[in-house]
Amino acid sequence: KGNAEKLEFQAETRMLLDIVAKSLYSESEIFVRELISNASDALEKFRYLSKTGENLTEASRPLEIHLATDKQSRTFTIQDTGVGMTRDEMIENLGTIAKSGTKAFLEKVKEARSTDPNSMIGQFGVGFYSSFMVANKVDVYSKSSQENAPGYKWTSDGSGTYELQEADGVKEGTKIVLHLKTDHRQFSDEETVLSIIKKYSNFVGNPIFLNGQQINTVQALWLMDPKSVTADMHDEFYNFIGGSYDRPRFTLHFSTDVPLSLRCVLYVPDGKPGLFEMSKEAKVGVGLYSRKVMIKTKADNIIPSWLRFLKGVVDSEDIPLNLSRELLQDSALIRKLRTVVVNRVIRFLHDRSQKEAESFMKFYNDYGIFVKEGIITEVEQVIKEDIAKLLRFESSTKAPGELVSLPEYISRMQPAQKDVYYLAAPSRSLAERSPYLEALKEKNVEVLYCFQPYDEMVLIQLRQFDRKPLTSVEKEMRQMKENVDMDSLPLGSLSKSEAEGLLLWLQHNLKGRAHSVKFTQKLENHPCVVTVEEMAAARHFIRTQSAQMT
Ligand code: ADP
Ligand code: MG
Repeated sequence: KGNAEKLEFQAETRMLLDIVAKSLYSESEIFVRELISNASDALEKFRYLSKTGENLTEASRPLEIHLATDKQSRTFTIQDTGVGMTRDEMIENLGTIAKSGTKAFLEKVKEARSTDPNSMIGQFGVGFYSSFMVANKVDVYSKSSQENAPGYKWTSDGSGTYELQEADGVKEGTKIVLHLKTDHRQFSDEETVLSIIKKYSNFVGNPIFLNGQQINTVQALWLMDPKSVTADMHDEFYNFIGGSYDRPRFTLHFSTDVPLSLRCVLYVPDGKPGLFEMSKEAKVGVGLYSRKVMIKTKADNIIPSWLRFLKGVVDSEDIPLNLSRELLQDSALIRKLRTVVVNRVIRFLHDRSQKEAESFMKFYNDYGIFVKEGIITEVEQVIKEDIAKLLRFESSTKAPGELVSLPEYISRMQPAQKDVYYLAAPSRSLAERSPYLEALKEKNVEVLYCFQPYDEMVLIQLRQFDRKPLTSVEKEMRQMKENVDMDSLPLGSLSKSEAEGLLLWLQHNLKGRAHSVKFTQKLENHPCVVTVEEMAAARHFIRTQSAQMT
């Protein structure tokens, strides 16, 4: 019907397709998982729309995924009865790359030109485009569930262009036909495909049929009793939702009924975060559901950005399905959910630090930067302080490499001590030689060391912990009252008049640059020291200024 239009892929898509088509990735079977997960997403979107009262064609149709294999024609076909796509959506969704996972993959490839992109495909999953690993031609038939939308056929061999044309007889939903490359003909074999579905797509909440037979066990793990879920089941579920192949290092599976209903399973990945995951562009990896119906793939209104390393599901049947976008952003209910989940995660991590100190320290090494981001970005002081219990520092009273927490520090404070002291220095040896440390060392006061520039920012933002001000030792030095009576000062080898002369000379030469110049008793091994009222803030200012200049 009508002539086929020839359209070009966006440049980035072309680059991706080129990598994918040439890939020798040994687990090319993951394309099955990718296509099933897209079909499943499309079904969830349809279910959502039908519950919120949109006008849809055939709103009561069964929501299913059908796969078919055909050895004769060497094809693999997947069809769903989900939302489908309009013409524009096909151009937008299949011709350009806007998806975070795929974007992350491309970034990685660019970042590490020398490494083998094959090994990365599996880690990221390149979505729909993974079809081109196994097929030399892909046909997509789609009909949007919006009323009266015509059906379209999209077809491409994965090189620079694709064709698009209106088509007759297209059913509501999407059908994708993969014309397999000869060396990937195994994907037209029923047994092979069956085992792949079992491996990757067991948890899909919609019935999957292969050549007419239903095969998946419909199970939403997060709704199960946490005690009945084995570690293997968690691994499998984690791989499915995260599209990754490592295992979770920590698993938090819980449910609550008061103050609101919540079913939650959250994972901390075993792997270290990559550059992309660390960047602010990375999206939250937790989906938001209400009774198994997906509301949002990225629950960024409930999981704050600093917890973007978590993967999992948050399900609350208290969320009305037709909650508008604005309400989702800012309802009291959503805020409450957020508070409950965030508190639970912090408490969980704190528990790990008590019960599995070693695993916690590994976590802290890999993900500590997110914890610090949390302290900076959370608004409420109580939450900041809750997160701050997870912080660890080297300390002046402990051996190098040994780390202490703020509560530990406080439990050891001297009776008269009111502040928690810290010292920012690039390294342990510089910290120990710092003139600022001397006065406190003398008094046997413990000082925490901040070796990273942002550690200091975190403490400035935190301001206090357990009602104790967090004070930089430089500031402390300025504030200490002391006797400046010349007669009682130990002047060493100087005579009193020489000392007075030196003071006058310094005052004269530093005029306009130093607020005051005076003798002190606080230094032991250094002849003099410069102090600045808010050195921490000043240092930060200087750093950001010079960063902007370069
Ligand atoms: P992702 O699933 O991460 O969004 P994909 O490359 O797998 O990325 O898919 C790209 C987009 O194409 C999807 O976001 C969706 O909008 C659209 N799409 C893919 N498959 C289907 C389908 N079966 N039904 C409807 N839309 C689909
Ligand atoms: Mg996808």
